[in-house]
Amino acid sequence: MKQKFIFITGGVMSGIGKGITTASIFHILQKKGYKVTAMKIDPYVNVDAGTMNPVEHGEIFVTDDGAECDQDIGNYERFSEKNLSKDNYLTTGKVYQTVITKERNLEYNGKCVEVVPHIPNETISRIKKAGRNADADFVLIEIGGTVGEYQNLLFLEAARMMHLKSPQDVLFLLVSYLPIPKTVGEMKTKPTQNANRILNEAGIQPDIIIGRASHPIDKARKEKISTFCNIDPDDVISAPDAGSIYEVPLIFNNEKIGERILKKLGLPKKKNNLDKWEEFVSRVKSLKKTVKIAIVGKYFETGDFVLSDSYISVIEAIKHASWSLNHKEEIVWLSSEKYEKDKQALKDIKNYDGVIIPGGFGTRGIEGKINVIEYCRKNNIPFLGLCLGMQLAVIEFARNVCNLKEASSVEFDKNCPHPVINIMEEQRGVLEKKNYGGTMRLGSYKCKINPKTKSFKAYKKEDIDERHRHRFEVNNDYREKLEEGGLVIAGTNPKHDLVEIIEIKKHPFFVGVQFHPEYKSRPLSPHPLFVEFIRKSIQR
Ligand code: GLN
Repeated sequence: MKQKFIFITGGVMSGIGKGITTASIFHILQKKGYKVTAMKIDPYVNVDAGTMNPVEHGEIFVTDDGAECDQDIGNYERFSEKNLSKDNYLTTGKVYQTVITKERNLEYNGKCVEVVPHIPNETISRIKKAGRNADADFVLIEIGGTVGEYQNLLFLEAARMMHLKSPQDVLFLLVSYLPIPKTVGEMKTKPTQNANRILNEAGIQPDIIIGRASHPIDKARKEKISTFCNIDPDDVISAPDAGSIYEVPLIFNNEKIGERILKKLGLPKKKNNLDKWEEFVSRVKSLKKTVKIAIVGKYFETGDFVLSDSYISVIEAIKHASWSLNHKEEIVWLSSEKYEKDKQALKDIKNYDGVIIPGGFGTRGIEGKINVIEYCRKNNIPFLGLCLGMQLAVIEFARNVCNLKEASSVEFDKNCPHPVINIMEEQRGVLEKKNYGGTMRLGSYKCKINPKTKSFKAYKKEDIDERHRHRFEVNNDYREKLEEGGLVIAGTNPKHDLVEIIEIKKHPFFVGVQFHPEYKSRPLSPHPLFVEFIRKSIQR
């Protein structure tokens, strides 16, 4: 079959679920037996997501091959159960960087290099490369932002040009929003009509419109959208708010989105089997018992609002693990700064079944997190430290158990007397040159687990691969001292002898990992370390 390309664009406003839409279509087409891949194109000038502040952009997701991507790549991986790569994420910055490098290398043979067509052409060649490398029947391309923004016009232009060359292989989806203003009491289609018109101005006629709204779209409105947006009423897919993102593939399947896509691309009908997914979704819906997990972080306050986007993979991993143990998750956000001075506040921590300290950078909130870790250690509260969370657990242990009162990380204090967390050797020069972009220890690395540990009990194997994103590590000069104090080095990188996992023996579950297990958790195959952590939290 000739490769097909489906562009997913967004209308009216951001945050209405283009990523989940793309991930859901990925799932449905895969279950019809096709090979699928998905790509996110972000309109940022940043070359990748690694230099973006999570409060502004949400979590930075990391692939096996070390790409620092938008969080949607995580959604694609979770819904498709596939590992994606550098090919699957593109930004304006990356496209321009490539074109400028090519120009400097005389690869355009002396031609004037122009925004059009060279930028869309480079975009098209990247889209095709992603399809080729994945050997995919379908390439889904999610264009970040909303139609009508100046920023993503060149990507729409790339989409239009691909359609012009082979209209039978390219499809356009518009994910739009239908508000129901309280004072009006009716679902309004005009913003969607306008979004469609903007897309038309870019030379694109959507083939399918996904109507996001708090309620299902009725027949009358489907017909209205059909008339004003120039599409068949059956191509208006109703996407009401769902109880969980994992219900969305089932909702789309009921609306026959797969059938519409195949029909429009001239492909024969094909059955799909979503039984396993359906079973999983209905099981989750019926869960009654809850497990209460606190996440102590600092990337969730923006103005008067609390956003959880910065820790999305951690949240999903907690959900997957809890659901697999027949519990609903109750996640509580705790701002680390609160525990900085107010030691009394620490007492609240015992109200939670388990505590997670996720990844992070910089000094803000650090001492608060260390205080929480000390409380968890001393009060037998299940604790999971992820990357920075692990480093802080080592600092806490060094200070309060090994009596190295001035222990710290050189990330927070360059000249600290006891740098139990040190800069990795190869990172030293990188930081001196301020060469920050894409230079951390990134992607998948091996770890060997000691069979006499809790981590081994969780993973049930000695050799694992996990994804990383950090510059600092446990200082091997302090290893002996820490082990004498009772810290268990449960896993190390076999090649470079870096500490990857630490544990404490006399504690129900106190584990810190230098990597990010959350990136590899999937709804139907939850991450073993999270499962073990949640199991102990439930027991508590
Ligand atoms: N800031 C720490 C480091 O660079 C931890 C990074 C993280 O949590 N991802 O090593």
